[in-house]
Amino acid sequence: MPPTPAATALAAVLERFEPVIGLEVHVQLNTASKIFCACSTRFGAPPNSLTCPVCLGLPGALPVLNRAAVDKAVRAALGLNATVQPVSVFARKNYFYPDLPKGYQISQYDQPLAERGWLEIGAGAAARRIGITRLHLEEDAGKNIHEGVAGTERNSYVDLNRAGVPLVEIVSEPDLRSPEEAYEYLTRLKQIMLYLEVSDCNMEEGSLRCDANVSLRPRGEARFGTKVEVKNLNSFRYLQRALEFEIERQGEVLAAGGRIPQETRLFQAADGSTALMRSKEQAHDYRYFPEPDLAPLQVSAAWRDAIAASLPELPDAKRQRLQADYGLGAYDAQVLSASRALADYFEQAAAGAPNPKGVANWIMGDLTAHLKAQSREIGAAPVRPAQIAELVGLIDGGAISGKIAKQVFAAMLETGETAAAAVERLGLRQISDPGALAQIVDEVIAAHPGQAQQYRGGKTALLAFFVGQVMKASRGQAAPAAVNELLRQKLG
Ligand code: ADP
Ligand code: ZN
Ligand code: MG
Repeated sequence: MPPTPAATALAAVLERFEPVIGLEVHVQLNTASKIFCACSTRFGAPPNSLTCPVCLGLPGALPVLNRAAVDKAVRAALGLNATVQPVSVFARKNYFYPDLPKGYQISQYDQPLAERGWLEIGAGAAARRIGITRLHLEEDAGKNIHEGVAGTERNSYVDLNRAGVPLVEIVSEPDLRSPEEAYEYLTRLKQIMLYLEVSDCNMEEGSLRCDANVSLRPRGEARFGTKVEVKNLNSFRYLQRALEFEIERQGEVLAAGGRIPQETRLFQAADGSTALMRSKEQAHDYRYFPEPDLAPLQVSAAWRDAIAASLPELPDAKRQRLQADYGLGAYDAQVLSASRALADYFEQAAAGAPNPKGVANWIMGDLTAHLKAQSREIGAAPVRPAQIAELVGLIDGGAISGKIAKQVFAAMLETGETAAAAVERLGLRQISDPGALAQIVDEVIAAHPGQAQQYRGGKTALLAFFVGQVMKASRGQAAPAAVNELLRQKLG
């Protein structure tokens, strides 16, 4: 395919300029109740049904910190290799918006819960650590809902069910150098949060939100350029497209001798562009000050260590172990460690199996394709891990060919039966009995006298033709090695 004009323009910018990108990611913690009150965090309840005087911001109501939110935030911080501070401080971030009834958001400012973490992107020799500046706890705001079509009469509503739901904000260092790296960083971050089970990371429901900061500098220049912040990135695809658009836009301004003003822009999903939201001069002054209604948050070493001891094996470690323990390649290990559930499934299937690579292939191939087609998760797989191991055992033991195994597996997916049961029911056991095979081979040779003569005259490449005919006559059930051997004998 020829490159699109946009791709060419982007390539021209990238020749002269290097992008510098840092992400600010909000992750909604999956606690049962809100961060400062006992209201439920359930998604999709009738508007304003999950509220109380605290999260409605009624005068005199006092916040009480939810211990589970701190627990999960510390988990997230440790999973990102960050240092958890023994003391952190909640602060009021003051601004007016209808979805923020108190007139301020309780967040953390100059003393965040955790600092100086990292996560790894890339693999092998190309692996790179992306720095994480800080991770802090805060409460979510409510949601404004706009009704009607622009230009006609319309109403706006405020739903405060989400107000007070716990979030962690995770701020990266400006260490990312391309939209692809930003995409990968967010992918890894989400994967780690899912492994830690601190969030469902559902982007459509807003449990994972991302703002991107991007600037350009001439290649070879050490200083950073002026950054632009892009908001409204509701998917991984949007993040990448917004960055591509912004890099091209900034590159063209700079190449023409212009300056990039510091500003906040909104991604427009309709055409993939970004549009000015506010300039630096219009930036909010949030007048942060320490929250007087909450004591400083103290996380003792004992608490932190107990959480550290409870962390599961994380994706990097799992990838490495799958390679070491099962002899898998880097790619297979990465695919199989996409989620804890998938890796567990693989390990159950491969436990004690002499051929883990064969097990991996069936899981990554036919099983994954089936699940995808059915929009199902691995937890809802119609066959148990042991059934995969058994199927691979039948192939390796010569009871069925790899080709027949596809048919067997399709039957297993449909009925849930074991591999052996499917083989018996469908009469698919491989024919390796010499007498039965010899009979088929004789019939095939007799049916093709011309080709047999050519073979005997030296056109030995015809062997493949005969093998094919025997496989066809046996409905794929003849043992290929034995067929080859018999044909050579009888034609030779
Ligand atoms: P602000 O004061 O505007 O919040 P910060 O320095 O706190 O800016 O950085 C916010 C985010 O922007 C971080 O993710 C950081 O990595 C990123 N960032 C900072 N400077 C730049 C830059 N020059 N280019 C791209 N990203 C940047
Ligand atoms: Zn409440
Ligand atoms: Mg900042």
